[in-house]
Amino acid sequence: MHFRKDGNVYCLRLQKGQEIVESLTQFLKEEYIRAGFITGIGATDDVTIGYYDASHRTYVKEDLKEAFEILGLNGNITIVDDAPFTHLHIMLGNEEFKVMGGHLFRAVVSLTAEIFITAVDMNIERKFDSETGLKTMNI
Ligand code: ZN
Repeated sequence: MHFRKDGNVYCLRLQKGQEIVESLTQFLKEEYIRAGFITGIGATDDVTIGYYDASHRTYVKEDLKEAFEILGLNGNITIVDDAPFTHLHIMLGNEEFKVMGGHLFRAVVSLTAEIFITAVDMNIERKFDSETGLKTMNI
């Protein structure tokens, strides 16, 4: 991974073979980033996305192994168990220009990933919410 920093904004380039969620979480720990937002584009050919089934309070997961453009990677940074946590969603486009997407569990970079992180000076923890079954932002 390569990155540049200007004030509270980071520009990152992930390389082929790097897993996005794990790489970003490690980066946030190293840079002491505890809140902010993430936006990115790139390519992947090995990705796990999810859809939250609210009635069963569980994620339906799908492993996809084909060449995708990452049309949009969006999410936020908060704190879970005193460590930075990324909540990311992804939109994927295939060779037929069909788009799919969901909650991002993991994605391995196939060509490159170009990601901007804006860090903000806040401390937002996630706490389990019995109404949704999710760890929601405690604001
Ligand atoms: Zn989500």
